[in-house]
Amino acid sequence: MESELTSAKKQLASAAKVLDMDGKVLKTLSEPKNVLKDDIPVRMGAGDKKYFNAYRIQHNDALGPFKGGIRFHPEVSIEEVKALAMWMTWKCSLLGLPFGGAKGGIIVDPKKSSLHELRDMSKGYVDSFSEFIGPDKDIPAPDVYTTPKIMSWMLDQYELLVKHHAPSAFTGKPVELGGIQIREEATGLGGFFVCNDATSRLKLKPKSTTVAIQGFGNVGFNIARLLHDAGYKVVALSDSRGAIYNKSGFSPEKTMTCKLEKGTIADCYSVGSVVSDKGKLITNEELLELDVDILIPAALGNQITLKNADNVKAKLVVEMANGPVSAGADRILNEKKAMVIPDILANSGGVTASYFEWVQNNYGYYWSYTETYEKLKQMLSNVFETTFKNSNKNKLSMRESAYLLAVDRVAKAVELRS
Ligand code: GLU
Repeated sequence: MESELTSAKKQLASAAKVLDMDGKVLKTLSEPKNVLKDDIPVRMGAGDKKYFNAYRIQHNDALGPFKGGIRFHPEVSIEEVKALAMWMTWKCSLLGLPFGGAKGGIIVDPKKSSLHELRDMSKGYVDSFSEFIGPDKDIPAPDVYTTPKIMSWMLDQYELLVKHHAPSAFTGKPVELGGIQIREEATGLGGFFVCNDATSRLKLKPKSTTVAIQGFGNVGFNIARLLHDAGYKVVALSDSRGAIYNKSGFSPEKTMTCKLEKGTIADCYSVGSVVSDKGKLITNEELLELDVDILIPAALGNQITLKNADNVKAKLVVEMANGPVSAGADRILNEKKAMVIPDILANSGGVTASYFEWVQNNYGYYWSYTETYEKLKQMLSNVFETTFKNSNKNKLSMRESAYLLAVDRVAKAVELRS
């Protein structure tokens, strides 16, 4: 299977070709600037010491300090983090944020870790990389399975080491520690705005539009809730252990209440349950191939590949995860005339809200929820519009259009500095 890094490099190479990019600039952009690795010692519940592999990959900082989340996941690999860091560079550039791109990760299954172990691991991560982090150097944030609480531990450890307050060193913090109210739902909210912009272009009316969403974490849940409240029919939902389908639609809120009680979405399907009495249990793979209008992969990377792209029936694919559609699969979806909103646009609400948080921390002055909401909506809609117009004018897919805009801005900044 094509790895995420292979897809990321292919995407860059095709943009570079169209932009007629200088060879030296392409070389700079093809590799991360800094690859940081360490083994973090954690005293486990049973008293023994275990080491966890941790990474921080800083891809490019021509446009500003590095920016990007840290994920805690058993399948984290250095190659995957390299791809994710590169995607952050393009995402920040596309949105016009004054940031470069980075990503971090620890190879761990947080579902099997105690609170105490997670705390030591989070603080240990900062001990390892503190000299490379900071408000003007590299600003981490949450990603897969990392939470505002984890950001609190990291910020606390960072401030202990540098011996002064530095709230803008991390984003996605709890509100009490300088976080902003909108950050928790921002990725889902951004995806919702982009989805609305796309459906109005495709002339789809919410009431008669069906949606399947893979993944029911922060991002999957929030976009499901927002689409449902706006009248879209959310007919399939899933988590890592299975999926549920019901052609009359689900209430994401009720599904979440049930999942919190029972543990998995699949357990929420039972005849007569609050979630569904007409639905059925399906697999995550089947969810991707459902006959729906909108497909939203909001879990992990590489879900739609050469293996299943032909079977995808949705007219609109909104990449809320990072890298869920491989480069090969993207070509097939384009041939099938599906509109694919690329991750660097679809899930950019998260880092855009992080930018607002960083600005407010630096000022020490906080905006109201409504003001932040409006700014987020405006920024994403403007970028959607620019990307859409560029795609129409130059006969490009939305991904090609977004990449050309994003990569060009970074390449120019690299050239100006050399
Ligand atoms: N982890 C999120 C992403 O992949 C947010 C990054 C950030 O806020 O820095 O975009």
